Amino acid sequence: MRDPNPAIRLKKPFLLVLKRGSLRFAPKKNTKIKGLTPLPMHRRLLTAKAPRRDGFCSLRLGVLAVFPFLLFGCKPDGQAEFPPFDGRRAFAEVEALVKITPRDAGTANARKAAEHIRQRLESFGVAAEIDTFNDKTPDGEQTFHNVVGRIPGKTDKWIILGSHFDTMPGIKNFQGANDGGSSTGVLLELARMLAGQRPRVGIIFAFFDGEEGIADYGPNDGLHGSRHLATTLVETGKVKTIQSMVLLDMVGDKDLHFTIPFNSSRTLVKEVLDAAHAAGHRDRFTLSLGMVITDDHQPFLDAGVPAIDLIDFRFGSAPGLNDYWHTDADNLENIGSQSLETTGNILLKLLEQTALD
Ligand SMILES: [Zn+2]
Repeated sequence: MRDPNPAIRLKKPFLLVLKRGSLRFAPKKNTKIKGLTPLPMHRRLLTAKAPRRDGFCSLRLGVLAVFPFLLFGCKPDGQAEFPPFDGRRAFAEVEALVKITPRDAGTANARKAAEHIRQRLESFGVAAEIDTFNDKTPDGEQTFHNVVGRIPGKTDKWIILGSHFDTMPGIKNFQGANDGGSSTGVLLELARMLAGQRPRVGIIFAFFDGEEGIADYGPNDGLHGSRHLATTLVETGKVKTIQSMVLLDMVGDKDLHFTIPFNSSRTLVKEVLDAAHAAGHRDRFTLSLGMVITDDHQPFLDAGVPAIDLIDFRFGSAPGLNDYWHTDADNLENIGSQSLETTGNILLKLLEQTALD
């Protein structure tokens, strides 16, 4: 399946207003995206709506500009400095996951992939568990397996880093190397790097099953794993301890360019852009496309958790095209370790600025 008409998304731009250090999006007129054919797929454009809550503290860029050692060293508690993120190692993680293909939710391979991810986390020294649950789907009730790894922090606060690992069903020779694989590889390598750390804010590595919808996106189709975790956090009252949720999705395109969707929390947008700037990759980000993407960050937004989706939704044979998405061209040959490295280094900067200090 292909993106039916990517140009439509560009027709409703949002103004980006910089005001008193905060980013604000303002829709030009109404925010309804018209003329869009329904997408029989896993990410659907919806009527744009601002996030409910946006309480995550913002980064003090001015302070960091004056005191750069806050970013790059002088860790008062002797916390280790991190080497640069190694994209080749992340790529090797993607390769290992892609060997378990397809990873369609509800299949034995999905369970196998979940167990593989859990074992990788444990091998790094990151405590991890598989959360198995049932949920309704258009094909009846199905069993899903989330994998959750945790690095506890010095406080009771947590940041969730998320990725889905399942594959879109029904596509011949589909590897999901980018869609599901790339983000999983980056998070696994990041978990390896951060294992043994004692960050200020604890880090939850959440690997979601069932992101892909079978028929269409709705309460019972797609986003099963993320919805399950967000709901569980709400039901247990632990949602209050979640500082933010950062989702990675499709981060392996060799021509990496993030398009942060409108349904991302504004303070997190600013923090990510600051981190991208610090990592030397600010030019890889575009905002204000008037685009809302239904993805695994949405259940956390709905639960009142500040969340953001770092996605490159232009995965194709030429810049701007998305013709590799949900095809057999989503394979290892068409993703690049350099893009995984770029993503990992941006995430490391983000964590340095928000969780590791
Ligand atoms: Zn997909």
